[in-house]
Amino acid sequence: MNECLFCKIVAGQIPSDKVEETGALYAFNDIDPKAPVHVLIIPKKHIESALGLRQEDRALMGEMFLLANKIAKQKGIDKSGFRIVTNIGADGGQAVFHLHFHLLGGRSLGWPPG
Ligand code: 5GP
Ligand code: ZN
Repeated sequence: MNECLFCKIVAGQIPSDKVEETGALYAFNDIDPKAPVHVLIIPKKHIESALGLRQEDRALMGEMFLLANKIAKQKGIDKSGFRIVTNIGADGGQAVFHLHFHLLGGRSLGWPPG
C-alpha cells in the first residue's frame, strides 16, 4: 500500500493539483487530461478498484457521485453533460490500482469507448 501512487498523493508525498477535498475523498486534475475537464476523484482510504468495494463502503460511493456532481457544476459542464468512468482491471484499462472516478467533460465524448 505504501507503493500506491494515489495513496502517496493523498499523503502529500507526491504533488497534485487539488480540486476538492472532503473528510473521506480527494479530487485532483489528471496529469494527462483526455478532455478539457478531467478530474480524478478518489477515496482517501486505499481500495484497489470498484471490485474491492465492501458493504461498509456504500456511503463512500454515494459521496463520490455527489462530489463528482459538485465538481461538474463548478466546472460548468453540468448542463452540457459529462462522463464518470471507473476502469477495473486489465481489460478495463486500469493503470493505477487505487479506486478512482474519472470525471470527463468540456467536449463531446465518443461512444463506444475504444
Ligand atoms: P486508470 O487508467 O487507472 O483508470 O487511470 C489512471 C489515471 O491516472 C490516468 O488518467 C493518468 O493520466 C493519471 N495519473 C497517473 N499518474 C498520475 C500522477 O502522478 N498525477 C496525476 N494527477 N494523475 C496521474
Ligand atoms: Zn492507494
